[in-house]
Amino acid sequence: MTRLDVIEESGHGDDPYICASCGNCTMVCPTFRLGKWESFGPRGRLQVTKNILEGKAKFDEEYVRKLFMCSLCENCASVCTTSLKLDEFWREARAQAWEMGMAPKPAKYASSSIMRYGDPLAMGSSSRLRWAQDFEIDITDRIEANAKVGYILGCDVALKPQLNDIARSMVKILEHAGVEYTLLGEKETCCGAPMLWAGNKSEVHLIAEKNYLLLEELGVEKVIFSCPSCIYIWHIVGSTTPHKRGNSPLKLYTSSQFISILDKNGLLAYREQPMITVTYHDPCISARRLGIYHQPRDLIEHIPGVYKVEMAYSGTETRCCGWHGLLNLTNPLVSLEIAEMRMRDVSVTPASRVISECPRCIQALDTAGQTMQYELKVQDITQLVAECLVEPEKDGGS
Ligand code: SF4
Ligand code: SF4
Repeated sequence: MTRLDVIEESGHGDDPYICASCGNCTMVCPTFRLGKWESFGPRGRLQVTKNILEGKAKFDEEYVRKLFMCSLCENCASVCTTSLKLDEFWREARAQAWEMGMAPKPAKYASSSIMRYGDPLAMGSSSRLRWAQDFEIDITDRIEANAKVGYILGCDVALKPQLNDIARSMVKILEHAGVEYTLLGEKETCCGAPMLWAGNKSEVHLIAEKNYLLLEELGVEKVIFSCPSCIYIWHIVGSTTPHKRGNSPLKLYTSSQFISILDKNGLLAYREQPMITVTYHDPCISARRLGIYHQPRDLIEHIPGVYKVEMAYSGTETRCCGWHGLLNLTNPLVSLEIAEMRMRDVSVTPASRVISECPRCIQALDTAGQTMQYELKVQDITQLVAECLVEPEKDGGS
């Protein structure tokens, strides 16, 4: 018998034995669809884990390669006949690999970059406000202001130029609605999600606390996130931190959740659009984990002149974009192929745009659209709403 102490101590050591081998998980797994081999899917990987536990196979590089050949999309967990918490199992198995020093290099790099620079891109805090340069709205007074609403951009939105417009759009919406909000600016740090996906369970708590403590000092009660993974991490890591975020009065919102509250309260005035047809791609975390899929649709349907068509596999049955769980770093070609599969779902609808609410989904679908030469616009829900608002001067200055 081989001892897999991290997996066993997490309480998941029996999971490979509880599995009924029904194959439900395999049928929905995007990496199995591409790899075709049983061991590229969840059921096969559980079987290999059982073999390792029984000393019939080794916890070797090939096994670790397959553990990271997974986008952590949680589709397997959502269909498991025996209700195995496979999302937790994959995280614990990666943690086992991390403890044994066997995590893939890109995963180690992302984790150490967060510890050193505060983000997985090694760009550092001085890059965090580049998105606001040459922006028509002066946000200087919003940085570390005392306010009830805080906006966390997340590393991708703050640091990747192609995603900066998401932050600018959120600021435009908040200003339009007259919301008093605060930004952490250069003090915002990574939520720690890439560390957890890398398997670095032991250090993620050191990072996940930081934004929370700063927001608490500023009197924030509601926090908006442009990245659903940031919320997820607060939920997962929060309950085990000294500050017990699970009991915190802070309320956490994805973009579409918060904007739809503004919309329902009549704080958003739209311009009639010239017949824009869109479809909505549900991010795995938003739909399956946070249960958010009505809000973005309600928002889209409330904008005059914007029409929504549904694509196959929506809501909790959404298909992964391929960019989650560090798959885009550890297996970029597999990641792209999964994104292209999802883009095919979009392409058979009459939509001219695909809307989502996750920076990784936006990057994945945008990249797939380019490689497939599809003339489809990919937008965050924040960008669509900001684009359709009445201009400030016409609105009487909100
Ligand atoms: S989390 Fe997604 S990619 Fe990973 S095994 Fe489950 S279904 Fe496959
Ligand atoms: S769905 Fe659950 S029970 Fe069925 S093969 Fe997958 S892990 Fe095993």
